[in-house]
Amino acid sequence: MTIKKQSKKPALFSAAEFEAALTRQWQRLGLQSATEMTPYQWWLAVSAAVNEQVAARRTEGQLRAATGAERHVNYLSLEFLVGRLTLNNLISLDCADVVADVVRKYGRELTDLLEQEVDPGLGNGGLGRLAACFLDSMAAVDQPAIGYGLSYQYGLFRQSFRNGEQQEAPDDWHSEHYPWLTRHTGLTLPVGFGGEVRTDDEDRQYWVPALVVQGEAHDLPILGYHNQVVQTLRLWHASHPTPLDLQKFNDGEYLQAVDAGVTASKLSKVLYPSDNHQPGKELRLMQQYFHCACSIADILHRHLAAGRTLLSLPDYEVIQLNDTHPTIAIPELMRVLLDDHQMCWEDAWSICTRLFAYTNHTLLPEALECWPQDLVATLLPRHFYIIDEIDRRFMAQAQQQWPDNEDVWQKVAVIYDGQIRMANLCVVTCFAVNGVAQLHSDLVKSDLFPEYNDLWPHKFHNVTNGITPRRWLKQCNPDLATLLDETLKVDWARDLDTLRDLEPFAAKTDFRHRYRDIKFANKQRLADYVWQTQGIKLDPHAIFDVQIKRLHEYKRQHLNLLQIIARYQQLRAQPNLAVPPRVFLFAAKAAPGYHLAKNIILAINKVAERINNDPFVNDKLKVVFLPDYRVTMAELLIPAADVSEQISTAGKEASGTGNMKLAMNGALTVGTLDGANVEISEQVGRDNLFIFGHTVDEVKAMLAAGYQPQHYYQQNPRLKAALDELMSGYYTPDNTQALQPLWHSLLEGGDPYLVLADFDAYWEAQQQVDALYQQPEEWLRRCILNTARTGMFSSDRSIRDYQRQIWQPAV
Ligand SMILES: *Cc1c(COP(=O)(O)O)cnc(C)c1O
Repeated sequence: MTIKKQSKKPALFSAAEFEAALTRQWQRLGLQSATEMTPYQWWLAVSAAVNEQVAARRTEGQLRAATGAERHVNYLSLEFLVGRLTLNNLISLDCADVVADVVRKYGRELTDLLEQEVDPGLGNGGLGRLAACFLDSMAAVDQPAIGYGLSYQYGLFRQSFRNGEQQEAPDDWHSEHYPWLTRHTGLTLPVGFGGEVRTDDEDRQYWVPALVVQGEAHDLPILGYHNQVVQTLRLWHASHPTPLDLQKFNDGEYLQAVDAGVTASKLSKVLYPSDNHQPGKELRLMQQYFHCACSIADILHRHLAAGRTLLSLPDYEVIQLNDTHPTIAIPELMRVLLDDHQMCWEDAWSICTRLFAYTNHTLLPEALECWPQDLVATLLPRHFYIIDEIDRRFMAQAQQQWPDNEDVWQKVAVIYDGQIRMANLCVVTCFAVNGVAQLHSDLVKSDLFPEYNDLWPHKFHNVTNGITPRRWLKQCNPDLATLLDETLKVDWARDLDTLRDLEPFAAKTDFRHRYRDIKFANKQRLADYVWQTQGIKLDPHAIFDVQIKRLHEYKRQHLNLLQIIARYQQLRAQPNLAVPPRVFLFAAKAAPGYHLAKNIILAINKVAERINNDPFVNDKLKVVFLPDYRVTMAELLIPAADVSEQISTAGKEASGTGNMKLAMNGALTVGTLDGANVEISEQVGRDNLFIFGHTVDEVKAMLAAGYQPQHYYQQNPRLKAALDELMSGYYTPDNTQALQPLWHSLLEGGDPYLVLADFDAYWEAQQQVDALYQQPEEWLRRCILNTARTGMFSSDRSIRDYQRQIWQPAV
């Protein structure tokens, strides 16, 4: 790929303009001078001053709508895990230096002020972070786009530990003003719930909702990297049109008077904390509908305001559904077209089938969304009718396609056994369905939707996920970024394939040592943080081995834990064993209702406590579980990692993106052949990571033959000793039964994620890690090759894949 040569445009603002905007900000705070500002106020003022300059551009940016040669993308997602925005925006605007200089005149350091920002935690994990990376990349490659999400008052819970157990606290992320968020005052939309469907004189159905709430638009700017593009992430906030019912108030019904307002504000109150699991709660469905109704209304309004006809909607717009969470947008658009615009079914359906595209993120059955039809019929009676009609029409087609094959009919039905299957509704409607890594996309076709794939093979695509190199290399690893600037002499963050030109430098001792020194400084920075926050001393010469991601059985943090126990036992038995010192770092939140995941957190914390207080092994082994994993913490951990643990059961991790971030920053992967690990291995070369464990086919064969975890327990003395010690109360002397749930799930519980079956191969892979680390130059060479060969995991490439395969205007 070649990069378009960009003529350098003038900076967005000068130092003098920035200083003037800054002055307006502290004056607004009621202060007499800049020096009176607290660090928090400094962050507010700097961000608001920059946002003021951006706001002027945003109006211009909105004019750049779709031309028809390309479609405008509406990215619908219930989650956008954007992370801190201030530094990210300064980097995009190429004005971090100007701002830092002005701030320094007042005796402040920009880097300190930036620490004042709270992460907007509007997502759970990978799915939400992907949405944020995609917005960044769409702006970077100048793909016209808008993101639609919810403005949760409380983001993902804040995590702490008490006696090793996870504690959750609300994340009131913008209790104080958030300077990047702007209320779009001209835009408020009504959204109905409940009520009934009536028929008018002309025999047309229409919906009379029982409750109408109001959606307010709150916008975050999404800035293109060095290209002056400004796009929008529009977050809907729910309120009630009349938060206080004056009539009721005057009649003395004080509490009832605020009832409707309370119901409405519940809608965007809190993000559901489940990842790869469907919560199945009424309020969640209400959130989904609220999100979709506002977004669809906004899209239609924008399209019609441009003077275009409804029928031409799919020529100009595409709606990308980030998983099935926004599926209710499909019947909502049908409803609006049928009822509000009196369109016939065929025309409305034709629009929908050319407008919507669906990204599948998981094959895990517990994550595939189904809603009870009774719930939908009560909450959204008109939508239920429309879904039923979609199902009826599709089933007529299915019965022709697969005559006398009731098994297939049952599988492909949208409504079955009282449940509405959102993934089926997506596949039946959407013109494109994609998985998020090659292996996952193959499994979507072969295992999840084989019948649909026979019927509509052209619908199915792969778009391998990616990460934005601006945040995940340039911003989080500034010293490595500088080394890349000096070595490559191109703006690699704009075209990440240019990293390939690093390959020859892997052979140069000088370069290797500069790369090594940067990694060491990043490790020192992390060690300082761990010392200050946890009181645990880490030696930056040790291998920093990280497993950072949501806590889930399929991700197998417990496999890592068993290996750590076995290592601890080995060190106790052989004190003089020559292994490089290793620090195992974990960071992960568990869904509050996921008891086994919380038990695994407890187990890791208890094992860590025992090991870290055992002076006998302490120059060889430490275990740290950092609380409250979030984007900002990822930005600290990833540049400091030597080893990246990507050890999910093969077939379970759709893609992973943490694996990409770590490989790009020069950590060597210990991984199964799952998700994007397969492509990482192809890119970096099989010698430059540590692949182990059963493959997808082997996992399937083993489960089909009747997997017996006890067999592995009995046959492998190392594994048995680790499990026995875990169960013995050795790590939990106060409550010897505390880790019973974990032990039980692995043995009596059938070990559904094959932890025991992969233990031996995992242990061997860890031996190889130890051996290679003792050849430091060779280790370094492989790290550099990882950085050099991970260019394809830029989310700019993912976006170009979407453009080519999916977002092209229909012909
Ligand atoms: C990248 C990222 C994830 C996804 O990590 P996986 O290892 O792919 O599951 C989750 N949370 C945060 C904060 C991230 O930055």
